[in-house]
Amino acid sequence: MNAAAPTSPRQRRMHDDNGRVLLKAFTREELRDWLVQELDEKPFRADQLWSWLYIRLASSFDEMTDLSKPFRARLEERARVDALTLNSEHLAADGTRKLTWRLDQGGVIESVIIPTEDRVTLCISSQLGCAINCQFCLTAQMGLRGHLSTAEIVDQVVQARRLYGQERRITNIVFMGMGEPLHNADNVIPATRILTERKGLDLSARRVTLSTSGLIPEIERLGRETNVRLAVSLNATTNEIRDWIMPINRRYPLERLMETLERFPLKKGERITFEYVMLEGVNDSLDDARRILRLTAKIPCKINLIPFNPHPGTTFRSSAPETIEAFRAFLRAKHVNVTVRETRGDDRMAACGQLGTPGDKRPKRLDPPEPLRAQFPQGTLRLDDR
Ligand code: SF4
Repeated sequence: MNAAAPTSPRQRRMHDDNGRVLLKAFTREELRDWLVQELDEKPFRADQLWSWLYIRLASSFDEMTDLSKPFRARLEERARVDALTLNSEHLAADGTRKLTWRLDQGGVIESVIIPTEDRVTLCISSQLGCAINCQFCLTAQMGLRGHLSTAEIVDQVVQARRLYGQERRITNIVFMGMGEPLHNADNVIPATRILTERKGLDLSARRVTLSTSGLIPEIERLGRETNVRLAVSLNATTNEIRDWIMPINRRYPLERLMETLERFPLKKGERITFEYVMLEGVNDSLDDARRILRLTAKIPCKINLIPFNPHPGTTFRSSAPETIEAFRAFLRAKHVNVTVRETRGDDRMAACGQLGTPGDKRPKRLDPPEPLRAQFPQGTLRLDDR
């Protein structure tokens, strides 16, 4: 699979507001072409510059001492090394570290470093806010305020490595921070190529996972154009419930989503991960577990059950530990590869689904299906209104 097809440059942001080129927006080939065509440099200069950006993790042109001074001066004039400015960092008691970054155009995005015994995972953002309006998600309450450029996506990894690479190397990347990555595929797909470039950040494609709410055309594109791992936020087993808690389901219902995933190109031994946020009284019955079996029967997969992390203003509650355990045990007895995600970093709002700023202006809530209205008395929102 995965002959790397060119990505349309139409929606990619390659410059900052002052017209300077964002170097981390370029794939390796694009960087070489830019240096040759725009700066009249020899192709080998691209290798030197690439190495400074992604191996030596330089933060300025001044550090790039094997480049001639005139070349550095021209780069300084025309280009930018970093695309993000560190805004804050918070360390949770369990070692989880939340980093926030200021964007040039205004707004703050977030990344989270999650160390475990055998890996260090960096969770990165792909948008400022999100348009998908999943009802249980804090980021959704911001609405969509902008797409990140490829450079802003890649720079979360570069700067996190620069800050903490001495302690432990970041080994895994998950696109599970703010935003729906496939809603910003034109910037995200080139970013995955940069992250997995051997002579650079050198992350294995097996260790880069992109999580989607289920945008079918872009899932197909991801399969054609990259080798990275796919995770899908499932979170419901009927269209009725998924239409409510993940309104993207009204456009791409469960049957079509599963058909698409059955065709998703996987190598031997690879699996799609289904994430399933456990919401009390909404999606946590054993009937739901049975339906998961049916829905995923033809898809090599693993299921990741996620206890819900409550945030201010939410009416959802996490399923009780014994409910989650019964759900897990049922699936395991049917030979499903199922895990329960450990909750990390709660004391500083760095757990999954907690990226965003509580208190932001909130989109309206969707009406739940009739049987759940008493439990969730919320406002209404027609999709067309968004
Ligand atoms: S769960 Fe993901 S896709 Fe859904 S609103 Fe939140 S950030 Fe967007």
